[in-house]
Amino acid sequence: MGDKTFKRIFLITIDCLRGDFVGCINKRSSLTPNIDRIAADSLVFTKAFANGPGTNQSFPAILTSTYFLMHGGMRLRPHYITLAETLRKNGFKTTAFHSNAFLSRSLGWDNGFNEFYDFMNGLKSPSAFITRKQNLKNIVNWLSKAFKLTRFTYIQHLLKKYYYKFADFQIPYLDAKELNNHVMKWLKTNKPEKFFLWMHYMDPHVPYIPPEKYLSGFSSRQDAFKYNCSINFKKIIKRDLEILRKLYVGEVKYVDEYIGKFWRYLEEKNLLEDALIILLADHGHAFMEHDRFGHAFDILYNEVLHVPLIIYGLKESKQIDFPVQLLDVSPTILELLTIEKPSSFTGKSLFRTLKEKQQSSPIFSESARPDLINLRYDLTKKAVSCIKAPYKLITNQLKETVELYDIEKDFNEKKNLIDSNKDLYEEMLTLIQKHISIVDFKKKIGTLKRI
Ligand SMILES: [Zn+2]
Repeated sequence: MGDKTFKRIFLITIDCLRGDFVGCINKRSSLTPNIDRIAADSLVFTKAFANGPGTNQSFPAILTSTYFLMHGGMRLRPHYITLAETLRKNGFKTTAFHSNAFLSRSLGWDNGFNEFYDFMNGLKSPSAFITRKQNLKNIVNWLSKAFKLTRFTYIQHLLKKYYYKFADFQIPYLDAKELNNHVMKWLKTNKPEKFFLWMHYMDPHVPYIPPEKYLSGFSSRQDAFKYNCSINFKKIIKRDLEILRKLYVGEVKYVDEYIGKFWRYLEEKNLLEDALIILLADHGHAFMEHDRFGHAFDILYNEVLHVPLIIYGLKESKQIDFPVQLLDVSPTILELLTIEKPSSFTGKSLFRTLKEKQQSSPIFSESARPDLINLRYDLTKKAVSCIKAPYKLITNQLKETVELYDIEKDFNEKKNLIDSNKDLYEEMLTLIQKHISIVDFKKKIGTLKRI
């Protein structure tokens, strides 16, 4: 492990890619032949969990090894050291490519990067897409208040349908092919001796508009886009769910195809030598397994938290089947590079967990009700889960619910054990309470002046 010198570090992240849709994790899936080929020579964690259900709740864990609640808002707190900052200090040139508005420069995600391409300008700007959604929400809010409309969801849906009917078609992010082109162009023109490159694929995120060969039934990406926009995601019917699932499958196949193309490029250019490559998803996506669609802040079921995690570049290739968390990815990278981890990193190297051959600490996943218009969170309405194998407790302050599952026997979380396991519930609830008080305290002291 420690006897190899890595000069090229690639962090490949994929938005919304569910763990069970990836073949090397779920043998019944044949959607990802390219990722599976990479996995054959890698460490594959079949039970990796995101520390939050959305981009902005999961990425603090991935890139700073801190919990979302330690930040408490959408903006990354600058006193939490990023992986990129640490690598830059240690002689790596650091570069990022993505097109997710929640990871933008304006929210602090460029911290530590020599070059940061978030593609927030121009017609394809994701922020323009979000602004458009926010404008629509504002109009609906105003109409609802002005006319004392109670059927808010229905009115919102009608307006949305009308609004998008006349909207221009734009893919609201860089697609996999474009992302590859940007990264490969950078690799051709930049040849630093040591570098860290983070690239983030957006394709499996809504709206589902894969290229023609993956469109299953739609005649063009524009038609698929308009279809996506016409759906009332809060009241989804079975037929639409099937169509959306097919489109999502198309996006998964498409992103896998382009990961394969990128990999072949790395092979041809001899860039896999001395390379450490980490591939993961920030979270998954729910298709009504628990009567919810999407990855809203309070969906902490495994369809949203279970993600692929693959590490390539080590001498060893094997499958690890006990629960691990994305919080531990950055400490693992630093351990492999024999770089000391910053004191603000909360996670620990996965190799320590590997030595112990079992889950080494409880896995917390957190979120709170977002206010997307004001880029804030309502921290009185948290949703927090805790995994301590074989059990998982999910608490939801908005709905005032608690659920307890045995995820070894019941990974799909169908049988809530809360009534028959009071002692266990109390024990796991105490873990969550302690965790919340610690992250809350860390959030508060983070704002104090250092003496
Ligand atoms: Zn995401």
